[in-house]
Amino acid sequence: MTEKNVTEYLQEHGFEKLHLKAVLFDMDGVLFDSMPTHARAWAETSEHYHLGLTESEAYENEGRTAKSTLNILFQRNEGRDATEEEIKEIYAYKIKVYNTYNAETIPMKGAAEIMKKIRQDGFQIILVTGSGQDTLMARLQKFYPGVFTKDVMVTAKNVNHGKPHPEPYLKGLQLANVHPWEAVVVENAPLGVRSAVNAKIFTIALNTGPMKDEKLLNEGANILFHSMQEFCDEWDRIKKYLQ
Ligand code: MG
Repeated sequence: MTEKNVTEYLQEHGFEKLHLKAVLFDMDGVLFDSMPTHARAWAETSEHYHLGLTESEAYENEGRTAKSTLNILFQRNEGRDATEEEIKEIYAYKIKVYNTYNAETIPMKGAAEIMKKIRQDGFQIILVTGSGQDTLMARLQKFYPGVFTKDVMVTAKNVNHGKPHPEPYLKGLQLANVHPWEAVVVENAPLGVRSAVNAKIFTIALNTGPMKDEKLLNEGANILFHSMQEFCDEWDRIKKYLQ
């Protein structure tokens, strides 16, 4: 199975071989089981500001910066982008609601274990997230101590264009100093998968949310697992095809 997926990937991009040096991880829905809370916080924020965003739409827009999501909603409702002030106010409200649930501190089962394996195998680990929340560093340090320093992180603050634009993952490649065929991406969101695929990186989708597998596969994911734990358990089998 994995061998065929790798062959298809190489053919699609005209690369000769995969030679793994770095694993690029998305954060929400991958390292933290935070998506249900994000979706709920967005839905409540939408209700407060009459934005017309449903919880399932929040899942579908995962990976976008808050600014991008709000501009889509404002365009739909009022035919214009949101102003900087509106974005600031609404995003602050969303973070406030999110923090009341205090669920951001739930690490994804299997995440610490797979990172330990990847480090033991000698591969770099890079974080590529659309999040810009200031509490990011603290919770990464708490649950994944010593893995994520600022020089291995791409956040909403480091990019001009968020996912689905390829820029975040291209920046991740730059940080690792590797070519696209020397990395894999681990992503749970359709727009994140699209960003990684557009950056020509082999993309491992984790369907950790309520959507259908097809949503992720249709964006070009090269292989799909249904949990971080499954990916972790399969790592020793699949890694030989990636290097
Ligand atoms: Mg995610």
